[in-house]
Order: sequence, then C-alpha cells, then structure tokens
Amino acid sequence: MKSPSTPDLVSRFSALVEPGHALVEAADKARYLVEWRDLFQGETPLVLRPANTGEVAAILRLAHETGTAIVPQGGNTGLVGGQIPVPGQQEIVVSLERLDKVRSIDPLGNSMVVEAGMPLAAVHAAAEAAGRIFPLTLASLGSCQIGGNIATNAGGTAVLAYGNARNLVLGLEVVLADGRVWDGLRRLDKDNAGYDLKQLFIGSEGTLGIITAAALRLRHRPRGLAAAFVSVASPKAALDLFVRAQAAAGFGLTGFELMSGLAMEFALRHLAGARLPTSPAPWYVLIEVSSSLSNSEADAIVLDVLAGATAAGEAVEAAVAQSLSQVADFWRLRHGMSEVQKYEGGSIKHDVSVPIGDLPAFLDEAMTAVVEAFPGCRPVPFGHMGDGNIHFNVSQPEGSDRRAFLARWNEMNAVVHRVVRGYAGSVAAEHGVGRLKVDLLADVKPPLDLELMGRLKDALDPLGILNPGRVIRRP
Ligand code: FAD
Repeated sequence: MKSPSTPDLVSRFSALVEPGHALVEAADKARYLVEWRDLFQGETPLVLRPANTGEVAAILRLAHETGTAIVPQGGNTGLVGGQIPVPGQQEIVVSLERLDKVRSIDPLGNSMVVEAGMPLAAVHAAAEAAGRIFPLTLASLGSCQIGGNIATNAGGTAVLAYGNARNLVLGLEVVLADGRVWDGLRRLDKDNAGYDLKQLFIGSEGTLGIITAAALRLRHRPRGLAAAFVSVASPKAALDLFVRAQAAAGFGLTGFELMSGLAMEFALRHLAGARLPTSPAPWYVLIEVSSSLSNSEADAIVLDVLAGATAAGEAVEAAVAQSLSQVADFWRLRHGMSEVQKYEGGSIKHDVSVPIGDLPAFLDEAMTAVVEAFPGCRPVPFGHMGDGNIHFNVSQPEGSDRRAFLARWNEMNAVVHRVVRGYAGSVAAEHGVGRLKVDLLADVKPPLDLELMGRLKDALDPLGILNPGRVIRRP
C-alpha cells in the first residue's frame, strides 16, 4: 500500500473537499483518533470531511488509483476499533458527518431516505416529525450515525420487536472501492429481482464500500406503552418471565432486558439521581410492552404478566411505570450501564449471544469460569435477554491494578468464549468484529465461511484499500 504521507498525495486528497474540511493539524484530528473505551489510539496523516456523495466518490477514485487505505468513520461510537486508523499505516479517515440531510420522507409508504452521516437521534426526530418512528434504539443514539448503524448492523434494545438495522433498511447508496456509485436506493418491500446486493454492505463494517445514503423502513408509533421493572432471583426465573411476557404480548413485547445485581449497583453508585425501583435483588428485568390501541391495553398486559409471574414465583417484586417519564427512568438505568463500568476500573468486554433457552446455563457456567480463573474479578453481565445477547463484561478486582488487569484481556476472552462456543453461540453478537476480534474469527468460523468472505472482499475491494485488516485479513 502506498503512503499518502507524501505532501503531494496529501494535497491531492485535500483538494477533493471544500476548504477547511481536510484536517492535518494534530488538534483538529484528535477527536477522530480516540474511541469511547479508550482501547485504540489512532494515527492518520489526514481526516477528510466530504460534503456529498460526489466528494466521497472522488476520494475513493483517487484512493483506488494510488492504492491508499481509507477508513470510513461515522459517529465514532463503535466498540471494536474498526473506525480508528492504525498507527503507522498511513490510513486516511473519511468522516461522513457532513452528509447529514434528509433527502425525502414518504409517510404513506412508511419510508425515508437519509444521508449516512445523520445521527440516529436526528433520524428519530425526522421520522417523528412525519408521524412515524424509526425504531432502531441504542444507548449511543445521540452520537452514532445511521451509516455506522447500517455498516455494523446495529442491534440495541428494540430488536425483539423490530429486528436489527438490517431489517429496517430498504435500500442503500454505496460508493464502491473504485469510486463508482452503486445506486440501490429502492424503497420496495418486495424485490426478488436477483441478488439482494444491499445485504452485502449491511454489517460489512466499511470493508466493502462506503454507505452514503439509506432508504429506511418506518413504522407507526404504537398508541400505548407500559413498562415494569422486576426483581428476579435468577436468570432462569427471568427466562420463564420472558416466555410468559412473549405469550401475552406477542409482537407488542418491545423490550426485555436482563441486568445483574452488580451492574445495577454500579448504576446506582455512579448515575446522578439514579434510584432503584424495587428492593435490591440478585437480578433485574426491564419489560416494555407496546400496544397499537392504548396505554390502558399495554398496562393491562403488563399487569396480567406480573400477576402470573408473581403467583408462579418468577417475579420477586415489581414496579410498574406510572407515567412515560417513569418509563424513561427505568430505561435510563439500563442505558447507563455501559458507561458506569468505567468508574469501577478496568473492564474486559464480551458481546456474546447464545440460544435464549441456554442463557441461564451459559451465565452460570461463564460466571463460575471467570471467577475461578481470575480470583476477585467481578462479572457484570447485562443486556438484551430477549435476543439471547448478553454483554458479559468483567470488572477488575476491587483495588487491583487497572493496567495489569486489562493486559489479561485475551486470556479472559478465551475463558468466556470457550463457554460461548460450548453453546454454539456468537462471540460478536451485535458490535461486530472490527480490529478487536479479527483474529478470533479464524477460530470460530468454519473454513468455508472464511473462504467465501475472502472472495467477496477480493471481488468488491480487489486492492484491499477499504478498512484493511478489519473483519477479515487478506494475504
Ligand atoms: P463508527 O463507530 O464511526 O464506525 C463503526 C464501523 O462502521 C467502522 O468499521 C467504520 O469504518 C464503519 N462505518 C461507519 N460509517 C460508515 C459508512 N457510512 N459506510 C461504511 N462504513 C462505515 N451497538 C449495538 O449494536 N447495540 C447497542 O445496544 C449498542 N449500545 C452502545 C452503547 C454505547 C454507550 C456505545 C458507546 C456504543 C454502543 N453500541 C451498540 C456500539 C455502536 O454505537 C454501534 O456499533 C453503532 O452502530 C456505530 O455507529 P457509528 O456511527 O458510531 O460508527
């Protein structure tokens, strides 16, 4: 790969964007080079901030001509390091943040075309202004961008009812590695005319093309919403409660989150104004039910579920939200859970999923395994139980050395992932592979999967200039 650090190449790339949007000074580039967990520190000769698809295409044409590595960056909330340029590799960052416009909204057709750099929160606001919702919801929604969400096939808290990002995309506009623009911005629910090419780019983490716009699927806002915060004795009790809630609410079950007692303790300690809605318990569940009819119907379903769960001994105690602001308070506890772990020292993360029926056994086995291997460590599992997806995070022993604990990241991963594999689970459930898990993939994917992935990569990015070394390594 050629180095763009030559002044000539830097100025050729810089000339492709408007003045002031080619950043070379360290202070200007700084925020594009660190990520949320502080695990990756990047280095780049240049950050480019194109204003439109044409400028992105011009950048990739020049990158293709000169063999220059390009790292697309959205809101920089990714948790696997894919968006951070590798030190010493001279990768150029292309930030999509200025492609932030709504192109069109069609409430009748329940669709909306937006540019890739729109923050997810702005997408929500635009859908709501048109009397619809865009249901993808993550704790990072104020910063992450819709292009990044699609590139990572983001999950979040509403997958149970609405699916991953993949299920909410009707069409895409993508700039290919050679600079050509693929216009796949169709808004059709049904289109079996050949291969569904957009699916290749969804979840490809910037390794196959740069997404510049998307046609999104909108939904009607449910008329009713109810939520309960429930303390339970064990993950098995939570699973029984899940089955009960799903039977009662069907597709109206829009959230079912599991939180360990320790994850909640951290939230109460570090989130300003946080208050526990029930008495302390070993585990908690947040249930959210939506109704197409009314709040009272949603409330009735929640109360019916809780009555049955209490009688069956699944729920120890429950608090039902009395207002929408109390629903938001319950979610604030859950959404704050990733952030508060920072204040408890080093935390080693695992974004895993197993078949939902195996979750209780998985949690039991994994918690026992990490405590045996790392005496004093503090497992802090929480996550999207309804999807079988748990963030199995492990905090350092109290008072121990942060750096020494984090140095054992791979060892800890090996312990947890061995248990995950025993349940035929995934070691990259919703955050993706990026740089953090690229070496893991070889262990967990069958050789034919890896071969097919490699052939796709070579076909769409023959020079290997898009996010090299992320997701899959090429020779
Ligand atoms: P970035 O971080 O900028 O990039 C992520 C990857 O996508 C990189 O490989 C990058 O190169 C590529 N990329 C970005 N934009 C484009 C584009 N336009 N075209 C091609 N490639 C592109 N994730 C979940 O799935 N579920 C959660 O519940 C969740 N909760 C989170 C909570 C917190 C507090 C935080 C910090 C993160 C959370 N995440 C979650 C992870 C993260 O928010 C998602 O992965 C998100 O989709 C990343 O979007 P982004 O715009 O920040 O992308």
